[in-house]
Amino acid sequence: MPFPNEILTEIYAKAFGLFKPDAPAPGISVTFYPYVNVNHTIRVREGKVLVKISTLFRDAPSAVHEALAMILVAKLLRRRVPAKADLVYKDFVSDPAFRELAISHKRKKGRKRLTGASGSAYDLEEIFDRLNEDYFRGSLSKPRLSWSGRKTFRRLGHYDEAHHAIVISRSLDSRSIPAFVVEYVVYHEMLHVKHPTVHRNGRRYSHTAEFKRDEKKYDYFEEADDWIERNASDLKKIAGEESPKKTRRNYWGLFD
Ligand SMILES: [Zn+2]
Repeated sequence: MPFPNEILTEIYAKAFGLFKPDAPAPGISVTFYPYVNVNHTIRVREGKVLVKISTLFRDAPSAVHEALAMILVAKLLRRRVPAKADLVYKDFVSDPAFRELAISHKRKKGRKRLTGASGSAYDLEEIFDRLNEDYFRGSLSKPRLSWSGRKTFRRLGHYDEAHHAIVISRSLDSRSIPAFVVEYVVYHEMLHVKHPTVHRNGRRYSHTAEFKRDEKKYDYFEEADDWIERNASDLKKIAGEESPKKTRRNYWGLFD
């Protein structure tokens, strides 16, 4: 039997209580989301905690949901994940029956994709849908989404206004790249959809003040910016390009 939503919400409220016994429980919304891979997310929007759990967990036992709640809440609060929660979760996902379910789910989801949006580590459609819902209230019209043919560093992402297409460098389609970095690059390109290039006195302005203001609304803006700065030379290596000798500001120029 799938979990009634109120019970899931209670499980998350309890997890918050365990980490922060003195704080009142925040508003919490828990939903299932058909991620291609076994994936769950937790984030805070307008003071409310939004949890999205892989649909593969619909029928998971309550002990597993409790463990997952501890893991996600710990992640959100930047606390250590309790060893027991980690163990219960890993036991569940490494079970052969679950693995089989996850693989057939992925195959089914993957078959529907027409573009090159589904990479080996990340699925751009999934990232777009999630960001669109969380930051644009689902209002952004969906462009074509694709990984680039080559691994490029100079352009981690690009929005092609003429073809209404977002292309993300394949060098980011790797498990060694944190999800918040990939999301951040996609988010940046989505802002180009929201804020079209302005032409003034024969010049083009892509990163307007409004654009930059919106960009800072990304939950992991600082972290992603820092990560890219710290890992620029590794990214270049992946892309087979020479090491960059640029300042942080110049990295911004790497996003078109
Ligand atoms: Zn840009």
